[in-house]
Amino acid sequence: MKSASQPARQCTIAHSIVIQGIGLHTGARTEMHIEPAEVNHGIVFERRDLPGRPAVRAKAGSVQPSSYRTLLVANGVEVSTVEHLLAAMLGLGLDNARVSLDSGEVPAMDGSALHFVEQIRAAQLTEQDAARPGMRLLRSVEVREADRWIRLEPGCGIEIDCRLSSSHPKLSGQHLDYRHSSDAFTRELAPARTYGLLADLDELHAAGLARGGGLENAVVFDDRSVINPGGLRFENECVRHKVLDILGDLALLEASLEARIWSNGSGHRMHHELVLRLASEPDLCMRF
Ligand SMILES: [Zn+2]
Repeated sequence: MKSASQPARQCTIAHSIVIQGIGLHTGARTEMHIEPAEVNHGIVFERRDLPGRPAVRAKAGSVQPSSYRTLLVANGVEVSTVEHLLAAMLGLGLDNARVSLDSGEVPAMDGSALHFVEQIRAAQLTEQDAARPGMRLLRSVEVREADRWIRLEPGCGIEIDCRLSSSHPKLSGQHLDYRHSSDAFTRELAPARTYGLLADLDELHAAGLARGGGLENAVVFDDRSVINPGGLRFENECVRHKVLDILGDLALLEASLEARIWSNGSGHRMHHELVLRLASEPDLCMRF
């Protein structure tokens, strides 16, 4: 990576990528192709398993607010669990790509963004002849549910101060103060895996979720500790993953955001509400 700051120009990839894996929630085996795309194309998902290859663009207007994943819906089809791939794309500065899938869910890989980051780097980012859109926050905005909240204030670049809100002994108090750059993303966030409590698995299964989930694609805790045989990748892996999720959801703004962000126990549903507000209330942000 040539510098700590992202290039100001839009980027695509020089070479196509093929990734195979299992969907975390559907359990479906999926082959995903990521191909170069022209300036201002954005990140667009195509369902090549369906007639006419219906497409869903990764933008605020496509998000269907939900709790355990980021779900995009448009043209009568859905693409689920896009957040870790979108985080990798935002993290490295990939603006324009065609992503085609033969199922409705992005493969989970190991539950982190690491494989996506490695594949995008191997496919080589290439700068395009257009500036990346920017978005500067003009005043503070907050989404709150009881004692959990996410708040944005005007700032320079992206800084995220994140704290988990959990009574679990291994999660309680986990904290990360992150300043975004592509190098920091790759080193500090990309390897951090999604996580869950064994006690919550029944509820997820009853909701038809986490059917493809296991110790190979998630960090799982029992009442006291992590049960994965390999343990954790970072002592505070879970809060690192939470910051990864925030970035993946902010990628739906399709712009380089400048804001200072505080999160206390926020989750996807709050992030989706925040993204919808930022995209729809013109007095909150200046686009440039
Ligand atoms: Zn996640």
